[in-house]
Amino acid sequence: MAEKRDYYEVLGVERNADADTIKKAYHKAAIKYHPDKNPGDKEAEEKFKEAAEAYDVLSNEDKRARYDKFGHAGMGGAAGGGFSGGGFSMEDIFEQFGDIFGGAFGGGFGGGRSQRSRTVNRGSDIRITVKLSLQEISEGVTKKLKINKTVACDKCGGSGAKDSSSYATCTQCNGSGYVITVQNSFFGRMQTQSVCPTCGGQGRIIKEKCSKCGGEGTERGQEIIEVKIPAGVSDGMMLTVRGKGNAARNGGVSGDLLVVIEEEHSPELIRDGNDLIHNLNITVTTALLGGEVEVPTIDGKARIKIAPGTHAGKVLRLRGKGLPDVNGYGRGDIMVVVDITIPDELTKEERKLVEQLAEQPNFKRASGVESQNIFERMKNFFR
Ligand SMILES: [Zn+2]
Ligand SMILES: [Zn+2]
Repeated sequence: MAEKRDYYEVLGVERNADADTIKKAYHKAAIKYHPDKNPGDKEAEEKFKEAAEAYDVLSNEDKRARYDKFGHAGMGGAAGGGFSGGGFSMEDIFEQFGDIFGGAFGGGFGGGRSQRSRTVNRGSDIRITVKLSLQEISEGVTKKLKINKTVACDKCGGSGAKDSSSYATCTQCNGSGYVITVQNSFFGRMQTQSVCPTCGGQGRIIKEKCSKCGGEGTERGQEIIEVKIPAGVSDGMMLTVRGKGNAARNGGVSGDLLVVIEEEHSPELIRDGNDLIHNLNITVTTALLGGEVEVPTIDGKARIKIAPGTHAGKVLRLRGKGLPDVNGYGRGDIMVVVDITIPDELTKEERKLVEQLAEQPNFKRASGVESQNIFERMKNFFR
């Protein structure tokens, strides 16, 4: 076997380089010598593996300290842990360091692979829907939610054990939580480290189980969870409350509570982003003479003025009366879209009056021009 190059030299960093510099240097080398970029190039493959090995040591405080003190001699044998002794396989490099590539090669590399599981048990997420009124959306609201979920057993505190002396060291992994298997592969002898199947990575097993939960560490229960919902949220948005989902077996990590926002639809104020649209019907006489009408807003009715000669399709804007932007960029408006109600039928007297009106000069104008104007206005509004 050829003499091993110095790990700092491999990554091209100073001996006192910090973790970030080492990570960046490895990232650069890994991209340069990546097999996808150098198909069939044995030398590039060796360099790729060499860089991964150097990074494995220099990115780990313990291993780095040992390497600094003893050089390559300090890295052999079981004490090295991980992959020492047999070199890396490509598979291992991807699995071990997949995260560092951050999707640099798309989904097929690193991120696409399942990471080796080193975590303890994780509880499942709980998804719930919360219905909010416009007012609640406008102001933001704190909701107290009663959630049926898996909670930690109150007798054993979630451990699943009868008491603190009810544990024994796992005999399969001798308490480390990991098992190492040795395989002969194309790249040489290879050690693979995986979570101990007997203890699930805990390093210990329960000798005497909790009588209440039977060793699971969990039970069905209920929790009241306060969720702060910011102003300006919209239908379908999801808030994540970390660690408030189902509790995990044997004192593991709880899942998350996922809160999905549902908007109560108001027929009077239709949401359009941060704006609210109100379709307002006014009488023919108000359209002609002007007047004051009531319109709904988020916090109750408001009175607005209608100017004499208001056309159907006119949009009146109530500035700042809409909803707040969820990111704090101001407030939307209420847009009042005017429509004119034409009576379905007329009394004899009304008919007489309208007939008189129809003879007046302002009501005798050709209708073609006017109707086009209304059409143009509508078009502009919907554009
Ligand atoms: Zn074990
Ligand atoms: Zn219990």
